[in-house]
Amino acid sequence: MRLSRYFLPVLKETPADAQIVSHRLMLRAGMIKQTSAGIYAWLPLGFKVLRKIENIVHDEQIKAGHIPMQMPTLQSADLWRESGRYDGYGQEMLRMQDRHERDMLFSPTAEELFTDIFRSYVRSYKDLPLTLYQIQWKFRDEIRPRFGVMRGREFYMKDGYNFDLTKEDALHAYNRHLVSYLRTYERMGLQAIPMRADSGPIGGDDTHEFLVLADTGESEVFYDSEITDLTFGDREIDFADKAQCQAVLEEFTSRYARTDETHDEAIFNEVPEERRRVARGIEVGQIFYFGTKYSDAMNATVQDAEGNKVPVHMGSHGIGVSRLLGAIIEANHDDNGIIWPEGVTPFHVGIVNLKQGDEATDGACEQLYAALEAEGFEPLYDDRKDRAGAKFATMDLIGLPWRVTVGPRGLEKGVLELTCRRTGESVELSMEDTIARIKEIYAKHPHPKGL
Ligand code: ATP
Ligand code: MG
Repeated sequence: MRLSRYFLPVLKETPADAQIVSHRLMLRAGMIKQTSAGIYAWLPLGFKVLRKIENIVHDEQIKAGHIPMQMPTLQSADLWRESGRYDGYGQEMLRMQDRHERDMLFSPTAEELFTDIFRSYVRSYKDLPLTLYQIQWKFRDEIRPRFGVMRGREFYMKDGYNFDLTKEDALHAYNRHLVSYLRTYERMGLQAIPMRADSGPIGGDDTHEFLVLADTGESEVFYDSEITDLTFGDREIDFADKAQCQAVLEEFTSRYARTDETHDEAIFNEVPEERRRVARGIEVGQIFYFGTKYSDAMNATVQDAEGNKVPVHMGSHGIGVSRLLGAIIEANHDDNGIIWPEGVTPFHVGIVNLKQGDEATDGACEQLYAALEAEGFEPLYDDRKDRAGAKFATMDLIGLPWRVTVGPRGLEKGVLELTCRRTGESVELSMEDTIARIKEIYAKHPHPKGL
């Protein structure tokens, strides 16, 4: 992309109404614009990162054996009456009527719809296990939408639903989700800690929330500091292997880590004092096992091997896709702007032309731009006639992790300058070596085209 032809409405001033850094930076970097309280337009740069995050979520879900599909955002109230949640859900549910005065609602979550799809088609235990999921816009009429996309009213969420014959199988689905979530967040450059939580209006027995530590987080968390040493890394996992998934769950949940809702001071005090941490965190996902709560209410059964009709065991599992942008920025920024992890950066490399209009400099930039595109990267080339300082400031603000600076002085020596956004370190390299270095950096981060 050439910046001269892109739509990147960056703001010079710091927006007065944004209280936390990620919200300020998303507004300043021209990623989002509020259209009404808690509802945002996703401008091109924000939309691009949203898609990158969404792609990672899809990729990891599919690897875990879960099947993507799409539900409508508007639902009939009838299903929710059947499950008993229509009256109970409260004012967070946006209710409306169509022209025939039928009660409708904008989906805040979709247990009922997925359970209905399941019972419409699945008859036999032979069709299990089954996990269906979607990534779709949700609406919750939050009383206090704030912090930009972190607590919106309309937000983008991955929600998945497992259907299993037995409790044991459903707990395997739970464990599988835990493992796939660990992998998902790590690919985004985040450490998200599974913490025992409270099940809220979804209901159920077992639930963990995933929290990213950040001072601006809305949840108070209590944990054993040993947990932050754990990473999933690039170990191999067979998602069908129950024992393997169970072992990962045990590894990541055996240390004390809880949100304030489930915190127990007495148990916490058994953790050695020097390892006890009280901090704040951002909830970026949650997994639930709730047994037959919905299948009982909605009559979702299968025939088991003996021919008996039995209710299926279920769970639901959510990732806050749009909230993740805020969480990633809270965890990755400095005074000059955002610092995108390589896995989610909107563009892989920024190219800054120090002397636009100079034949040799323009030529070198064009050559680099074409070569990077040919290698499958998305470079952002600042080809505007602007001061170098202003170009650097824009690149720093929008947070591309790598920048190549091209100027007449370097070109005389046959070099370009490659700068790391996170460390500020620069190296001078030939064009060829620059490209090779960028390929090396992104070798671990697949970058599919077509976003
Ligand atoms: P919270 O406690 O933050 O209100 P929740 O527990 O009600 O969230 P879930 O039903 O667990 O939310 O939804 C799954 C994920 O969706 C959450 O972990 C969170 O990351 C995201 N999410 C929930 N509400 C919002 C919101 N208002 N804006 C943005 N993301 C949200
Ligand atoms: Mg939750």
